[in-house]
Amino acid sequence: MSKQLWRNNLINITPYVAGEQPKGDNIIKLNANENAYPPSPKVRQILDSYKPEDMRRYPSADALPLREAIAQRNGLSIDNVFVSNGSDDVLATAFRAFFNSERPIVYPDITYSFYPVWCELLKIPNRTVPVKDDFHIDAQSLYGEGNGGVVFANPNAPTSLGESREFVKDVLEHNKDCIVIADQTYVDFADKGIDCLDLINEYDNLIVTHTFSKSRSMAGMRLGVAFGSAELIGYMLAVKDSYNSYPVNRLSIETGVASVQDEEYFQSTLKKIVATRENVSAQMKQLGFEVLKSQTNFLFVTHPQFAAKAIFEYLREKGIYIRYFNKPRIDNYLRITIGTDEEMSQMIEQIKAFMNK
Ligand SMILES: *Cc1c(COP(=O)(O)O)cnc(C)c1O
Repeated sequence: MSKQLWRNNLINITPYVAGEQPKGDNIIKLNANENAYPPSPKVRQILDSYKPEDMRRYPSADALPLREAIAQRNGLSIDNVFVSNGSDDVLATAFRAFFNSERPIVYPDITYSFYPVWCELLKIPNRTVPVKDDFHIDAQSLYGEGNGGVVFANPNAPTSLGESREFVKDVLEHNKDCIVIADQTYVDFADKGIDCLDLINEYDNLIVTHTFSKSRSMAGMRLGVAFGSAELIGYMLAVKDSYNSYPVNRLSIETGVASVQDEEYFQSTLKKIVATRENVSAQMKQLGFEVLKSQTNFLFVTHPQFAAKAIFEYLREKGIYIRYFNKPRIDNYLRITIGTDEEMSQMIEQIKAFMNK
């Protein structure tokens, strides 16, 4: 009998666990930080005029039209812009390109759970540093001559908190010999002082990532962006061309361009979500919740009298899906995506019902 020794060589990986994708009617889905509103009507126009025969052709390998539109919108050169299939793929490409040292890369203990998944998969040595008691990231904890790289989400998930542009500058000043990745997935929902994109002109070891999944309502199209010096973006393009020949598809490129070119719609959607966020935040505080100051399209909350897990389970029974993490330090917190005003008032009603049980 074979001892199945090949089992010793299997990849050892704990998969990333995404928010549930429940099916059915009358479900309120507030568990994956998806946008409450549809993408720009200009995206609709692209779909309406799309000719299926165009699908016969391969897409532009380097997604030039989209990179051009993103560069223009941000006052940058096309050489500063990399796009790929969702920012998860952007991060994977950056990890492969830049995290090849024996020295550990560093990231906060409470952060986006994709970073450890990629470290494990790519065998990148890594070290976590605790966020402060108030859940803000401690800049000093990220200082280090010995770092193989640094990655953090800002605004952070699931805490919803933002760190200032000066915080990012501080981290960069103390990490001149490695690449620093600032995952700015949620920056469009944040106060102005949190955006650190302009720092790529000052620091040639900084990569800033964005996505179309949250603020641009296009999670299903899989579009992510990295910004950096022409040199760093050149390395990312080389990695993408060599290990991953999965270019962004034609429809994502075209709809992505349409989204980027409709600034007015984009701003109006952001404004609505931020207004709902502030309103819901105030209501939840009235119910006794502690609500962290969100710079994102979700809230991170805890209640001194009611267990987060019990609230999560009650809402789930009522068809309202939010996110609960059974993880150290945050196992009495809930992450709630900002939906429409109507969805949020239904959620608040159910929370009240739970509390009055
Ligand atoms: C949602 C999210 C991403 C990934 O988004 P994509 O859909 O892969 O573009 C990356 N980082 C953080 C912090 C996120 O919350």
